[in-house]
Amino acid sequence: MKSIFLYLSTSDRFKKFLTRFQSFNNVTHRFVAGEALADAVEAIRHLNGQGISASFDHLGESITSEIETRTEVNEYLRVLDSIDESGLNSNVSVKLTQLGLDVSQDLCYANTRKIVEAALRYNNFVRIDMEDSTKIDPTLEVFKRLRAEFENVGIVIQAYLYRSEKDVEELLGLGARIRLCKGAYKEPPLVAFPKKADVDANYIKLTKLLLTSDAYHGIATHDENMIAATIQFAKKRTIPTDKFEFQMLYGIRRDLQEKLVREGYRMRVYVPYGRYWYPYFMRRLAERPANMWFVLRNMLRG
Ligand SMILES: Cc1cc2nc3c(=O)[nH]c(=O)nc-3n(C[C@H](O)[C@H](O)[C@H](O)COP(=O)(O)OP(=O)(O)OC[C@H]3O[C@@H](n4cnc5c(N)ncnc54)[C@H](O)[C@@H]3O)c2cc1C
Repeated sequence: MKSIFLYLSTSDRFKKFLTRFQSFNNVTHRFVAGEALADAVEAIRHLNGQGISASFDHLGESITSEIETRTEVNEYLRVLDSIDESGLNSNVSVKLTQLGLDVSQDLCYANTRKIVEAALRYNNFVRIDMEDSTKIDPTLEVFKRLRAEFENVGIVIQAYLYRSEKDVEELLGLGARIRLCKGAYKEPPLVAFPKKADVDANYIKLTKLLLTSDAYHGIATHDENMIAATIQFAKKRTIPTDKFEFQMLYGIRRDLQEKLVREGYRMRVYVPYGRYWYPYFMRRLAERPANMWFVLRNMLRG
């Protein structure tokens, strides 16, 4: 089931078919704040009111036109302005294929640098999301070039990949701030652990490496077992709760987000908005087949 959804997340034909149904477009609001920046601002204001910080994500990926990558840069500059103007507690997350990685690495570097530089002026932070395994090396190269100049830029590591432990060790050596997630793409057994138990074991192993390093990291998961293991390890090593943060996705496990905040942990929610929600939305369906029943129920009602 998961593989089918991940395959469909890259299919333009299936997207055209589904988006013909208005009721399908309506249910995307479960995971996407809306199409306009103002929708994301509103969602983040609400989260901030609950003691939860956020990360804006302007949805977009696999952009191959140089002009369109510039539009993305401008949108992120607008987001940073608006965080500053509205006093929101939020940083931004970007995908490098949104900023020209598939066009040229230099273009991507220059585009991302503009965003990181603007964020620095506002004392804000830019997280570079990680995409499928074919993009990891170029993404890390762009990240390392930026990290050599800026401290307000971080990266994502996916625990489902065999290579991640080595990447984490190298990145910690650079003082990098890492968001650890399990990984959301369809990857072959050649590069990624096929079994959930192995992904989970690697997640816990990498979490321990992160928590015992000097930098501030994000533990991004909705998995109660991963969260419990993180809390247990932090308590055992007397790592203060302000030395790391938990991160979750907009609309997923709100109950757990609020519970962790009540218990004194830091929580950041990733808030996607924009018109290009389809691949993001399909990856969320892939993660939990029960979400598909939610969608179908709403489509039938619509
Ligand atoms: C802040 C944040 C940023 C991320 N950035 C990236 C990135 O840059 N690159 C990348 O590859 N992946 C990214 N991801 C996605 C991540 O890799 C996983 O695909 C996703 O978080 C599901 O894994 P999990 O750790 O929640 O554990 P899972 O084992 O998948 O799920 C554990 C439990 O969480 C709940 N849950 C998980 N997903 C859903 C869902 N979609 N709907 C409802 N309930 C759900 C269910 O209760 C499930 O049983 C990010 C995730 C987060 C939270």
